[in-house]
Order: sequence, then structure tokens, then C-alpha cells
Amino acid sequence: MARYRDAVCRLCRREGAKLFLKGDRCYKPSCPIEKRGTQPPGQHGNSLRRGKALVGYGQQLREKQKVKRIYFILEGQFRNYFERAARMKGITGENLLFLLERRLDNAVYRAGFSTSRRQARQLVNHGHILVNDRKVDIPSFQVKPGDLISVKEASRKNPHIEGAWQTASGRGRPSWISADGDMSARVASLPVREDIDRLINEQLIVELYSK
Ligand code: SF4
Repeated sequence: MARYRDAVCRLCRREGAKLFLKGDRCYKPSCPIEKRGTQPPGQHGNSLRRGKALVGYGQQLREKQKVKRIYFILEGQFRNYFERAARMKGITGENLLFLLERRLDNAVYRAGFSTSRRQARQLVNHGHILVNDRKVDIPSFQVKPGDLISVKEASRKNPHIEGAWQTASGRGRPSWISADGDMSARVASLPVREDIDRLINEQLIVELYSK
């Protein structure tokens, strides 16, 4: 998989919003967005954006890029999710977000086993995560109501996981996932729109792919 190797905070500044890509730092005053606002990266960042509100295609494209970056998904995979969402009953934009939310790496982050989705993906890839007591190392695995997500016994003393688990209660969990004992979380229901970032305008992505 291709990787983004530049400083991830630049991505937030590029999108003009906090994307929560860097774990604990995102919740601290040292977050560059908190310190400097949403000035775009680069020497001419401010002058490039000044007075030029994005409209139409530009706005739709930026929204897609933002969601790809939040969920750490590449273009081809994102397109597949969109096509699947369009075939489902209901509102395509919301279906897209629900499919992304139900990815195992996202659920691991939402449950509080990691402080970022990137870290969650590593935990899944490296075999630290169990679903219904069986190891699942596929980040795109879709969780469903009733699933029990847990950290395997040998990994429970991992300081990154322990630290994330302890701070997760303070950050709060979405309504569809809840703590279920030590280092375990239960998928209580399917995600709902209210659980997902209100700043995402999924309709713009639908418009982009419908051209
Ligand atoms: Fe974005 Fe987090 Fe960096 Fe803040 S600290 S700019 S939210 S990645």
C-alpha cells in the first residue's frame, strides 16, 4: 500500500480542519490547528486561499480527500466503498460513511484501543486484535452488531494500548460501540450519522462521483 510520508499535520492544515491523525497530540493545545488556525501549509498557503472560497468541483474534490484522509483510505478502495454504498438501500452518502465506520481499524480506534486510526491499523495488521476471540488481521474487515472486539492476552500490557484505553473514557465512545470488560468492546448496533463527524458533507462526495 502506498504511504503518505510527510508530516500528517500538513494534511489537517490542507483540509482546514482537525482530522485527528496523530493520536494524543490532537487533543492537546500543541496541535498546530489549535496553535495556528487553519492556515494552509507552505510558504504561500495563506495567499493561495485568500478570497477564494472553493465551489463546485473543487469543493467536492476536497471533501472526498478529507474523508479519505480521515479513514486513511486510498483512492481505489474508496471508490469501491462508494460503489458498494450506491448499491445499498438508503442514502448513498450515509451508507458510504457507515461502511467506513464499520472497518475493523476504525472500530479499534473508536473503541479506544488506539489514539489514532493509523495506530489502530498497525494493531490490526500486527495481529493484536481479536474479533469474537479469533485473531483478525484485516483492517477492512466489517464489524457487525454483537461482535466482541478485544486485545489478545499477550498484548494487553502494551503501553500504547494501555494508555489509549485509559484515555478513551475521557474522550468518549460513539453510541454504537461500548466498553465490555477489560480491553474489550462490544459493537452494540450499526453506526448512526450522529456518531460521525458533523463537518463531513458526504453529499458533496456523492455529487463528485455522480458526474
Ligand atoms: Fe491534525 Fe492531530 Fe496534527 Fe492537530 S495534532 S493538526 S488534529 S494530526
